[in-house]
Amino acid sequence: RSHLAAVDYRVHELLLRQERQERTTLKLIASENFASSAVLEATGSIFTNKYAEGYPGARYYAGNEIVDELENLAIERLKALFGCEHANVQPYSGSPANQAIYRALLSPGDKVMGLPLPGGGHLTHGWAVNFSGTDYKRVPYGLHEKTQQIDYDRLRETAKRERPKLIWVGGSAYPRVFDYAAMAEIASEANSYLVADIAHISGLIVAGAHPNPVAHCDVVSSTSHKSIRGPRGGFILSRNEDRYQALYHSKSKYNLARRIDRAVFPQLQGGPHMNVIAALAVALQEAANPPFRSYGQQIVKNAKALAQALLDRGYDLVTGGTDNHMLILDLRDRPLSGKAYAERLAKAGIITNFNMVPGDPRHPALTSGIRLGTPAVTSMGMREGEMVQIAAFIDLVCRQPNDPDAHACVLRDVADFCAAFEVPGITDR
Ligand code: PLP
Repeated sequence: RSHLAAVDYRVHELLLRQERQERTTLKLIASENFASSAVLEATGSIFTNKYAEGYPGARYYAGNEIVDELENLAIERLKALFGCEHANVQPYSGSPANQAIYRALLSPGDKVMGLPLPGGGHLTHGWAVNFSGTDYKRVPYGLHEKTQQIDYDRLRETAKRERPKLIWVGGSAYPRVFDYAAMAEIASEANSYLVADIAHISGLIVAGAHPNPVAHCDVVSSTSHKSIRGPRGGFILSRNEDRYQALYHSKSKYNLARRIDRAVFPQLQGGPHMNVIAALAVALQEAANPPFRSYGQQIVKNAKALAQALLDRGYDLVTGGTDNHMLILDLRDRPLSGKAYAERLAKAGIITNFNMVPGDPRHPALTSGIRLGTPAVTSMGMREGEMVQIAAFIDLVCRQPNDPDAHACVLRDVADFCAAFEVPGITDR
């Protein structure tokens, strides 16, 4: 840290300000977390200097014996944690991982089914402005109008009619468990690849707090920086063999695992970020330890407690609650937009993001919802009792959205509230 202060006081000052913000506010963004000091140390290590284009044992640069060992360690840890046949740890992040999956499985113009953004899907699952929506034919699938959960019966009908080559299961704003077995049946009936995107829930899966899709899916993609608490990055898990090789890829001499590796490098990326792969290996070591299991289970307990406390205060939640780490406040009947509430909450030290809700009448840049997630506050050591207090803070702000004095008061109370907890990577160094 002293080196940074000496070389660049402006970046150092920004870093100190960001640290202070993270120590004194409630991080309720469902996709964020606190990586441990060990993970941060590996991310900032000299592995950042090494070029290692290629894969272990087959690099295009010399001097890679050590990083070969490192990458193999990360791969073996992933395979053991998720029980999969093949793992690629080189994707720079979640979106590049998904891009590689498109390249490995499809040709431009092929049909792709995914949950649309307002239903909780991700941009890369076939949203109009994303490459997945412009380069492929998108067939969105919907939610049940009443339950606001995936309508598996309608999905089956659509898949049988449309016969997409790929079906995504996963999302960024879906607060319920995914039924991977049902999705696998539907995908098989339509001769579709089934790909799970577990970016948000990979930590919950490792902790046994959400079912593992690996046995049901052809491919699984993830980020490494959300509930699994690693560095910013991505990974892809898959089977070795392609069950549709004869149908869709008869001309390729490569099996599924090789096609994914080749899509990542050399088709889409260059040199892997070895410092990030080192940090991923560290995060996976942490995730294999028993405390990670209680952390993952506590994330869900906290989300359920926060949901209940908000329901008790008269708030509506998409699907009426949560099974995982996130909940979506449905603010359609409130006077302001999701964006306006998120801005007010931030002024009071409660950091969230605004989010579309199913049937949202507002523009995606305004929305009628707020997404809340519990991974970061759980990493700080908070439990169900603290969730009740957090609901009270949220309610204080939302009940008085136009009272800056009230927000300033909550801001101070939130800072006092946070001071009682360790913040991994910040207060434990
Ligand atoms: N997939 C899902 C389900 C996500 O929620 C996200 C990120 O929010 C991604 C993929 C993309 O990850 P990244 O932002 O690292 O590209």
